Amino acid sequence: MTKPLDAIFFDIDDTLFSTTVFADKARRAAVDSMIRAGLRTDRTTALRELEEVLAEFTSNYGNHFDKVVDRLPAEASQGLNKAVLVAAGVVAYHDTKWRELQVHDDVYEVLKWLAGTQLIRGIISAGITVKQAEKLVRLQLVEFMTPSAVFFTDQIGFSKANPKLYRRILQRMRLDPSRCLYVGDNPTHDIDPCNQEGWHTVRIRRSGKHATEDGRTTAQWEIRDFFELQAILRREFALE
Ligand SMILES: [Mg+2]
Repeated sequence: MTKPLDAIFFDIDDTLFSTTVFADKARRAAVDSMIRAGLRTDRTTALRELEEVLAEFTSNYGNHFDKVVDRLPAEASQGLNKAVLVAAGVVAYHDTKWRELQVHDDVYEVLKWLAGTQLIRGIISAGITVKQAEKLVRLQLVEFMTPSAVFFTDQIGFSKANPKLYRRILQRMRLDPSRCLYVGDNPTHDIDPCNQEGWHTVRIRRSGKHATEDGRTTAQWEIRDFFELQAILRREFALE
């Protein structure tokens, strides 16, 4: 007996691409660039400070590299222009970001396949709206999504841990949760609230910081790549 399905929604970070690996590469490139610009420290020390700044001020804080310079001993930047050091970090970070930001091949293949079906294809993503929107564009996924089904938490007014976020979106879309599927990597922000709202849920456990965490509930299905998602859609929902 296959189940009816009207819509599938995706998380972005560590679901459609490896945010964790990508951010790590970009941070290393940034630190190396600051050292080349004259910062007197070693990569390990600078990276450790950067990780601490991220932990203390969150990844959406705007002045990470300033803080790294501030936290190192004064001799590290003596006689150097701080703005230039920071710019060296920022430029290398962004260069790496634009170069590395791409979806896994299986994600691209399966989203392209989905775009040829009648399913509504959407995004529900948390974070700074412009940054998340930019990722979607850079990842070249906009063409595969249903334009009216792209949602960012800041625009809705609820965080992802709150099941009302998912309820509100389906109200707006006039969709029934029992005919919707959510795909995400975070057990407490993606899977638990959707389970509570009566959605179908798929947890992707490929990499990323949430791969080893557990939530209150478990996803209906667990996958390692999007080809496994495709198999579920064919088998359980008769999607062709
Ligand atoms: Mg995620």
